[in-house]
Amino acid sequence: MDAEKTREELQAELDELRFQLEEASDTIEAIRTGMVDAFVVHGEKGHQLYTLKTADQTYRVLIEKMGEGAITLNKQGVILYSNSRFAEMAGLSLDKVIGKHFSLFIEGYTAEKLNNIIENRALSDYKTEETLICNACPSLPVLLSITNLNLEEGTALSILLTDLSLQKETQHVLKSKNEELEEARNVAVKLNNELEDTVTERTKDLSVSREHFMVLANNIPQITWTNLPAGQFNFFNQRWYDYTGLSFDETFEEAWTNVIHPDDVTYTREKFMHSISTGEVFEMENRYKRKDGVYRWHLNRAIPLRNESGELLFWVGTATDIDDQRKAIERKDEFISIASHELKTPLTSLKAYLQLMSHYKKEEVPEQIKSFIVKAEGSLGKLQTLVDDLLDVSKIQAGKLYFSQSPISVNELVSVCIENAGHMFPDSRMIYHPGTDFRINGNVERLEQVLMNLINNAVKYSPLNKDVILSVEKENHHVRISVTDFGIGLSPEQREKIFERFYRVDDKNFLTSGLGMGLYISMEIINNHKGKMGVESTIGKGSTFYVLLPLL
Ligand code: ADP
Repeated sequence: MDAEKTREELQAELDELRFQLEEASDTIEAIRTGMVDAFVVHGEKGHQLYTLKTADQTYRVLIEKMGEGAITLNKQGVILYSNSRFAEMAGLSLDKVIGKHFSLFIEGYTAEKLNNIIENRALSDYKTEETLICNACPSLPVLLSITNLNLEEGTALSILLTDLSLQKETQHVLKSKNEELEEARNVAVKLNNELEDTVTERTKDLSVSREHFMVLANNIPQITWTNLPAGQFNFFNQRWYDYTGLSFDETFEEAWTNVIHPDDVTYTREKFMHSISTGEVFEMENRYKRKDGVYRWHLNRAIPLRNESGELLFWVGTATDIDDQRKAIERKDEFISIASHELKTPLTSLKAYLQLMSHYKKEEVPEQIKSFIVKAEGSLGKLQTLVDDLLDVSKIQAGKLYFSQSPISVNELVSVCIENAGHMFPDSRMIYHPGTDFRINGNVERLEQVLMNLINNAVKYSPLNKDVILSVEKENHHVRISVTDFGIGLSPEQREKIFERFYRVDDKNFLTSGLGMGLYISMEIINNHKGKMGVESTIGKGSTFYVLLPLL
């Protein structure tokens, strides 16, 4: 019958249908956006009023505007309604969504599975996480909230789709943060355990070393103490309490100052305060009162203990009883003093007799006897020097080395010594070029004694090279007189000690006579002249001994 229609009639029908379609689309859009909630339809039964029973205007607007996708399926799973958000999530336009089977949009969803959900009435509210297939965009994790709808026309499904990608992302970040946190916590726990172990170990070490220290401190024969950096005493060993008879409290109430001999208190305090303020080692001799009231000499020594960064932690001090040694030295000094005095008298007589002999009937004395007398005079001279030196040492010890001083010429002093040395050491060569003369205040005999001692040593300790150089020069407000040799020389350690009383270098390969008194006496003489004495030397190459004396 349609074939009988003319082309115009068909065109008119088509236009009419197109118009109806547009009208229907507009109506749907109006319903969707809530502009219409009832409308009249003209049909075979006349005019009929249709109202939108299931959704009033507010809900329709809400569903259209909400952030979740919302769809309605019929019982075959075909999408009857979709809001714009679902179409957006699926990456399609609305008209490409409505009328499609829902299983096309969810990964792993079959029509059968969907049917099960629809048929299963018990699942009136069902939530499941699925993946939404998106056209031309990455798939989305979504939460499906499925509700069975029992409509007049039969069962249908309403599904809300919530985009879980942000939540998943946050969960992922949270998970990795938690993992990092857990890792950090594990590291912290490990460190804490290690720290606890170290502290336990250290505490053990500390108590062991404290124990060791106490055993050591209480069993050595010396008095031992410790001070805080500012000088307060905080420990004395048992020996201190035994020796002084003081209690712990008495000691720390400054009573320890009463233990020091009254003559030594000021000096001790000064020395100690100097060390506390400079950090220098404290070393001195003083007398401590024993509990029976007897004072005994002690050698004190305190050293500062520092940590790795050099910070002073505390002082450790010891006081060693040297009373017996000091008394022995005093007895020796006394013996030297008496012996040298005792020797002096017969020596003087011997000298006088020898002089008498050498002048007695000179012509009649056989030549051989004359040579014996000369030799005896030589030996007597050496003995005389030795006894004189011993006497000088005694005087220095007693603080009684006195001599007068007057202005003298340095050139004259040195020339006299050169002349004497020429007679005494004919095999050596004395080299001296007199220059400007300097005047000083001094004792000629004593200064000659010093220079002759230096020349004597220069010759004595130079077995191979016989040259000795003397020089005089001005150095600021002093005149410097030097004696240089090219002999065995001295090591730095030896140089430090050679001015001490009775010190001699212990050299098995080089043995000479001497008692180690010459430099000690010389130093004392120069000190009495307010001068200085020193040595520059290289072992195996030679030495230069010098004196510095203040110019007039
Ligand atoms: P001594 O009578 O033993 O020479 P000194 O007091 O004069 O006593 O010298 C002390 C020590 O110093 C000597 O024993 C020697 O070992 C050393 N000494 C002194 N002068 C020299 C020198 N010119 N060269 C090397 N060593 C020297």
